Amino acid sequence: MVLVMIAAAVVLTWSASAPHALADERTGGLDPVLGTAYAQASAAARADGVPLHITSGARTPAQQQQLWDEAIATYGSPAQARRWTLPPSESTHVGGHAIDVGPRAGARWLQVNGSRWGLCRTFDNEWWHFEVATIAGAQCPPAWPDAAARVDAHRGA
Ligand SMILES: [Zn+2]
Repeated sequence: MVLVMIAAAVVLTWSASAPHALADERTGGLDPVLGTAYAQASAAARADGVPLHITSGARTPAQQQQLWDEAIATYGSPAQARRWTLPPSESTHVGGHAIDVGPRAGARWLQVNGSRWGLCRTFDNEWWHFEVATIAGAQCPPAWPDAAARVDAHRGA
């Protein structure tokens, strides 16, 4: 499993495009550890002259259900949709443990610098999605190929 994760982390998919529209800063409802880490990271990004903002943070189960329903319609099946959007019971956005960021330059900066605050890009197919995935200053774990792969691995699938 570790080797698979390392191999997956090497494949960076900058070509994927963000599905979320840009919006105002959204830190409400975030887990305090994530909110604090992001606040420190965004201040450092600003000091570096890099644009960085949250496009989607904490979501209610109802909001996630709507995104899930839309993803099934967009991708044609739950199996395909789960690569990009998870149902409310599985999404780390519900509960405030994930943020989507933009623009691309800011996400790129956060991928390089985020581990200083424990922030890591967790999915190869989502350049915009970050979570607290390590302790501040430590190396980020390898990214998963997509959101579904992580859920399935934790289920033992
Ligand atoms: Zn996300």
